[in-house]
Formats: sequence, structure tokens, C-alpha cells
Amino acid sequence: MTLSLDLTTDATRDALRARAAAPVKGELIGLTREELAEALVTSGVVPERQAKMRVQQLWHWLYVRGVSDFADMFNISKDLRAELAKHFTIARPEIVEEQISSDGTRKWLFRFPPRGAGRPVEIETVYIPEEGRGTLCISSQVGCTLTCSFCHTGTQKLVRNLTAEEILAQLMTARDRLGDFPDRDTPAGAIVPAEGRKVSNIVMMGMGEPLYNFEAVKKALLIASDGDGLALSKRRITLSTSGVVPEIFRTGEEIGVMLAISLHATNDDLRDLLVPINKKYPLKDLVDACRNYPGLSNARRITFEYVMLKDVNDSLEDAKALVKLLKGVPAKINLIPFNPWPGTNYQCSDWETIEKFADYINNAGYASPIRTPRGRDILAACGQLKSESERMKKSERLALEAMMIAGHGEA
Ligand code: SAH
Ligand code: SF4
Repeated sequence: MTLSLDLTTDATRDALRARAAAPVKGELIGLTREELAEALVTSGVVPERQAKMRVQQLWHWLYVRGVSDFADMFNISKDLRAELAKHFTIARPEIVEEQISSDGTRKWLFRFPPRGAGRPVEIETVYIPEEGRGTLCISSQVGCTLTCSFCHTGTQKLVRNLTAEEILAQLMTARDRLGDFPDRDTPAGAIVPAEGRKVSNIVMMGMGEPLYNFEAVKKALLIASDGDGLALSKRRITLSTSGVVPEIFRTGEEIGVMLAISLHATNDDLRDLLVPINKKYPLKDLVDACRNYPGLSNARRITFEYVMLKDVNDSLEDAKALVKLLKGVPAKINLIPFNPWPGTNYQCSDWETIEKFADYINNAGYASPIRTPRGRDILAACGQLKSESERMKKSERLALEAMMIAGHGEA
């Protein structure tokens, strides 16, 4: 059974209209502790001497308890709660749609304010439950500046970067909907891991190139992994990049999460065609950057994503070249069956070819899981986006969704 809920009720629309008409309040989610203290003090809501204590209190309510309304912060006086609500917001974004597949995969369509983009923007976040973990696939940009030839997002212009708050909002709203904060119930019938956290892993593998939105992604991931807050282990966060070489070292040094590389080809001629950023940062530079990734070891390997394109990069020669290229790099190889989209000239490799490719790599000593597509039924059943904002065609959305679900990482 597939379930699709339109969460844009009249009441939500009225509330959103009222919010749009009201003066803009400062967002508290997505601020570092220092920025949070500064916001509280400069607004006059909190005296400087109390700042540290208030930051600690708020941090706990926001990121441990997951509250989205100041009124629920019981250990803060009523007057202060009212003052906070007058100046700031901690509200969740609008959920335009939530879809639930029979295999438990969930997909949310979130709408965020324009923030310079002219119109509100919409992005998708996907939740993939498995036996021992639940992975959330998060977007970093609306659209992408890069133009990888097999990727549908690549045909869409960059609309804008997401803010740190919007990146975190995807995680926090997903946790709301799954009952993954303390004292919350998991919705009846939801498919989630049998024990532990419902969102146990996150992958920055949705729309956009995370390393072209470095500062916001860094801020969001540092908050997501903060031990006194959302407390996701950095080993359970994977950032995927098409190969923005100058930012790779910083990713390890300043964020410290697991790295995935969208490799897809083993020689520069082909990679120039598939992943054009390769012309700027060719394979040698990319593999060198990987070798120097801070914290790299056999226990903390880099995931190399490799999309299987029929007669393009799927021969045994390619498999051999791949093993040779990655020699000495602690690596996992993630084979992604290509998800076709309207207008593409590529086809997915035959299943037999994919298996042979995987066998060769396995025999060479690499874990090489083939991503099984999930949530196919919600792709088929997914409806058109609602009217009033910039939107992709249905066919475009289907391709993007298929990519996000198939491409989620092994972390
Ligand atoms: N921009 C980043 C992260 C998002 S893409 C990056 O490129 O790494 C997530 C993964 O899906 C990437 O490995 C991407 O190359 C892959 N992908 C894109 N389009 C795809 C398609 N049509 N079929 C299968 N995988 C695709
Ligand atoms: Fe952008 Fe990644 Fe798609 Fe390339 S594969 S166009 S970097 S989203």
C-alpha cells in the first residue's frame, strides 16, 4: 500500500500567510552556540550574564527534545518564553507532501521561503529504513551548478543554496514525523529499525553539490553531530561530492564526517564527459585528495560511487581500471544502477553485467554492494507538485527521487 498525505491544509495555508505577512523573526535553529548567545543578547531578550545558561537550555530543548514551539520549554519562565516567541522562530518548515512506500521508504516535499530566490523553493528528503539502521538522504542546494551528464539535477539550474537551518530542518522534521525525539510515539505501522534511533545515519546525497555550499553544510553537520544535542556520530554521516578537490581536505579537517566520491569513471577522457568538474580537478588530483583525507583508515574508508551505464563504463576492463586506480586507498565501492530519466541517452547496464563487475571488485578485496532500488511504488504513485511555486515537471521529479533513493550510501 502506498500512502500519500497532502499536509497543506487550509489552516496551514492561513498560518503560513500570516507568517509571510508578519515581520521576519530570527531563526534560532542552525546557529552556533556563539551566534545563539549573540542573537539572544543583542535582541535584548536575555542579559549578557545569563547568555551561557540560556544557550545551554535552548540547545537542549531544540536538539535533544526536538521542540518546535517555545511554549513547550517548561523550565523557562512564561515571560521569557513569550519574549523569545516575539523575536525568534523555531518553527518547522511547511511539509507540502509526505509519501510512504510499502517498503517503509518515506519521502517528504518541503517548502522553504524564497530567501532571495524570488519564489519559495521546494526540496525533497528521503528516509530509507533497513534492518539495523534508518538513513536520511538530505539535500544541500536547490538545483546544482554542475552538469553531470547522467544526472537529472544537472539539467536544472542552481536556484539557491540551502541555509544551515534548512539543512537541519530536513533532519529534525523527519525525526518529528518518525517519532524519533524523546517522549514521542512512532506512527502506527511505520517501518523503522527494530532498535536504536529511527534516523541513525544521514547522507548528503540529495540535490546539489554540498561542497559548493560548504559553510552552511559544515554548520549544519557540526550541529547534527554535537554530542549535547542531535548527537549523530560523525561515522554515521556521509557527505558525497562530485570532486570539489580544494574542499576535500577541509571536509575531513573541519567537519570530520565520512566521505563519498561520485567517481563513475576511471580515466579522464570519460570522466570529463560524465562528471565535467573533472576538467578542473582531474582524477589524479582527486585520488591524491582522497589519499590525504584526514582520518582515513581501514576502519574509516571512503565510499566511491559508481553509476552503472550500459556500454559506457561497465566492462571488465573498467572494473580492472577501477581496482588499479584505487590501489592503496581504503575504499568501499558503491555500484548504483543508473536511473533513467526522460531525454537521457544513457541506459542502465544489464543486471548480469553489474553482477560480473561487482564480482571482479569483490574478488579484488573491495566491499561492493549494489544499491537495490527502494520505494519504487511511491515514485510511480507520486503526484504532481502543487501550484504556486517554481516546480519541476513530474518526469523530472521522478528521476530525481529515483536517484536519491538508489544513491544512498553505505555508512
Ligand atoms: N552532488 C553530489 C551529491 C548528490 S548525488 C554528488 O554528485 O556526489 C548522489 C549520487 O547519485 C551521486 O553519486 C550521483 O552521481 C548519483 N546519481 C546522479 N544521477 C543519477 C542517476 N540518474 N542514476 C543513478 N545515480 C545517479
Ligand atoms: Fe550536481 Fe551531483 Fe548531479 Fe553532478 S551528480 S549534477 S554534482 S547533483
